[in-house]
Amino acid sequence: MRYISSRGKHSPVSAAEAIKMGISPDGGLFVPEYIPEISASVWMQIEGRTYQEKTGAVLAYYLQDFSPAEIKKCVMGAYNTSSFDDERIAPLVKINDRIYIQELWHGPTSAFKDMALQLLPHLLVASAEKTGEQNEIVILVATSGDTGKAALEGFKDVAGVKIIVFYPQDGVSEVQKRQMITQTGGNVFVAAVEGNFDDAQNGVKKIFADQSFIDILAEYRMKMSSANSINWGRLLPQIVYYVSAYSDLQASGQIKRGEAINIVVPTGNFGNILAAYYAGQMGVPINRLICASNTNNVLTEFIRTGVYNRNREFAKTLSPSMDILISSNLERLLFEITDHNAAAVSAWMEQLKTTGQYQVDRACLDKIGSLFWSDFASDQETQHTIRTTWEEDGYLLDTHTAVARNVYDKYAASTGDSTKTIIASTASPFKFGKSVAQAILKPELLEGQDEFAVLKTLSEATKRPIPAGIRDLDKRHILHKAVSSKETMGETVLDYLGINQ
Ligand SMILES: *Cc1c(COP(=O)(O)O)cnc(C)c1O
Repeated sequence: MRYISSRGKHSPVSAAEAIKMGISPDGGLFVPEYIPEISASVWMQIEGRTYQEKTGAVLAYYLQDFSPAEIKKCVMGAYNTSSFDDERIAPLVKINDRIYIQELWHGPTSAFKDMALQLLPHLLVASAEKTGEQNEIVILVATSGDTGKAALEGFKDVAGVKIIVFYPQDGVSEVQKRQMITQTGGNVFVAAVEGNFDDAQNGVKKIFADQSFIDILAEYRMKMSSANSINWGRLLPQIVYYVSAYSDLQASGQIKRGEAINIVVPTGNFGNILAAYYAGQMGVPINRLICASNTNNVLTEFIRTGVYNRNREFAKTLSPSMDILISSNLERLLFEITDHNAAAVSAWMEQLKTTGQYQVDRACLDKIGSLFWSDFASDQETQHTIRTTWEEDGYLLDTHTAVARNVYDKYAASTGDSTKTIIASTASPFKFGKSVAQAILKPELLEGQDEFAVLKTLSEATKRPIPAGIRDLDKRHILHKAVSSKETMGETVLDYLGINQ
């Protein structure tokens, strides 16, 4: 299995090279040259098996340049009970006759990013070895909150790698900030950027594209790579949990053999829902993929009209990890549904860059409509759904998963569809505890409390434990105090790496 670029101007590479490079040099994203179908015997073989065994089986289809022993080593290093607080890793919780919530947040940082970022470092190290890489790898990350911490946890103390995370000084929640600035590990560095997320992201992109910077690092035998979801090594682990969930539903007799399901995904960069699409193409029977947006509803509009238009106000919502106007993984979907038409995809992406919008053709839109359904939820609707789901189903949703539940309810009402449905739950309610507490508790209870006191109140009121990674966060030592202007991020990187220019 080789990997090709969605822009069509780079020759095919092995899985190890695609993972090590992160992004294709022609600006495209790497995709597998074909999507393998899970055979009947593999479906049988994984039924009732552990999450780790199922992961090994799915990975084997895509990592054909890895040996079974190498895959197993990566998988066991990633998914274990010293990192995850539930041995099922991605458990399904049935909340009513139709809806199952798949909890993807039992990893060290309490968001679903751990599902991929616990495995990616192992895949990257194996890929570097396999391709004879002689340089030290420097991972640069710009984060709006969840990716940064998950990447730090994944890469801390990994030999041959250094990781540098930039977050917007005033653009992340108190919990998210504390999680990052208290990060331990001998190879990690965290800096605040004086600016918003776009400034941090643009700064990192500029460094990636700066040839003189690349040359300086090369002199010191260092090479940059990416931990964002543009890296195939981050998408692949996400395909697994949809296969796993379907297999579990079948094994427990909750669905019949071959019975189709819906999957609802709270969406930002389109990575998680794209993984569900790949799972469908591999043979998971899917009726509809339901794409849930917040008021930054670029994707809802696109799925309904075929017009992608990022020229709009950026809204700060209660589901900040979905506050995004450019969903980079959509490029992979367009490449797939146009049967690998790299010229069309390149033209659309060029239009997006120059005018901020593009429109796909009718055939493309029809195909999207046959696979996806989409709507969005406002902050008020999000809070309402947290409250009603708690009161009626006794289940506590975080703000992102609540967007998904709200949009699912709209889907069920508008279509009358009663297909069994999995909602991807992307964060622990305690990660966005303040908004969750405000949705279900009386204001008097929270008066005068800081974010950490609110978590304790929420935990006592709901009798749910605060996850270990968030508990006592306010008492941990602050280890990272660096602040960088958006113009001097490059110097900040060189300083940390001990390179004096
Ligand atoms: C990153 C994130 C999302 C969005 O996922 P994408 O793959 O970017 O679409 C949703 N919820 C949470 C909690 C996240 O951290």
